[in-house]
Amino acid sequence: MAKRDYYEVLGVEKNASAEDIKKAYRKLAIKYHPDKNPGDKSAEEKFKELAEAYEVLSDPDKRAAYDQYGHAAFDPRARAASAAGARGTWSGEFHDPFDIFSQVFGGSSIFEEMFGGGSRREAGRAQRGSDLRYDLEITLEEAARGCEKEIRLSRLEVCEHCDGSGGEPGAQRRACSTCGGHGQVIASHGIFSIRQTCPRCEGAGHVLDRPCRHCHGEGRREKPATIRIAIPAGVDTGVRLRSRGNGEAGLRGGPSGDLHVVIHVKPHPIFQRDGDDLICEVPISFVQAALGGEIEVPTLTGKASIKIPAGTQPNTMFRLKGRGIKNLHGDGAGDLLVRIQVEVPTKLNAAQRAKLQEFAAMCGNDVNPISRSFFEKAKDFFR
Ligand SMILES: [Zn+2]
Ligand SMILES: [Zn+2]
Repeated sequence: MAKRDYYEVLGVEKNASAEDIKKAYRKLAIKYHPDKNPGDKSAEEKFKELAEAYEVLSDPDKRAAYDQYGHAAFDPRARAASAAGARGTWSGEFHDPFDIFSQVFGGSSIFEEMFGGGSRREAGRAQRGSDLRYDLEITLEEAARGCEKEIRLSRLEVCEHCDGSGGEPGAQRRACSTCGGHGQVIASHGIFSIRQTCPRCEGAGHVLDRPCRHCHGEGRREKPATIRIAIPAGVDTGVRLRSRGNGEAGLRGGPSGDLHVVIHVKPHPIFQRDGDDLICEVPISFVQAALGGEIEVPTLTGKASIKIPAGTQPNTMFRLKGRGIKNLHGDGAGDLLVRIQVEVPTKLNAAQRAKLQEFAAMCGNDVNPISRSFFEKAKDFFR
């Protein structure tokens, strides 16, 4: 694979001084630091590439070898094949890019370096962005199947104009006069003194003489965002899904917060949910209940037919295994419970009434088992 020239990687001339090389590396390493670019693979690659280039160009011996032999100077295979001895003590392996980064930055945090806070100062630390909450309503079908949703919201994002620095290009930092650079002020409430974040610099300890005209120095701006969220099958009302890094942008280069999507499943006109089970009440006529037969019932994906025996009583439950909702944690699926409602006709025409009366006469003194059991128990009341 072709490698980029180390001077080009750092954006410096071939005759750049050691100081220029260090400066260029600092600037670019901060820009591409993975903490500032969470989840961005290309930034991470750039960061590693920078560390490698800096490691070579900051060492006079390695730099001389690179100037003479190019990348081959550090290729173990080329090195073994060559008798050239002028390669210094180079081992053929690069250091950990984070290690180089922390060497150059001398232990102070990258963000303090960026914003000029000395390592003594507590103020001006990078701050993680706030988490956001979004209440998302979905249908029962969507909850059962899983789905993908687009969420539109407005959130604070890194200001493009100042790249999050809060200043116009070339703006200078000055110690904040309100807090004297401490980032905190002491407020007196009666006999109490309370340390508070400085309202002027918001804890940074410094202000910019020319704040960014787009974000007014905040480094972030409210922007509409569209976020795609994968909703797994089996979610129910109250389930919280976390979309990492989709909250508000951090302050002073801090990482973004997360977006919490709280699920609300809309009530369904025919299915009720009980955990992973679904309950559906299906009405049948009293004739169907008496004679039995096959009835069609709705399911989440269409319909199914079930056989009901002759003499089916109201509220009898029939269970359709596995036709409920897939378990969120992958533990199979619930059942569909069909509860039978027996509907008594409310309007009878003369002919129907005559037939029913005929039927009643045919039954004579027959008593059905449920009634028999009831009257047995209640006989004292009917004396
Ligand atoms: Zn202040
Ligand atoms: Zn800005």
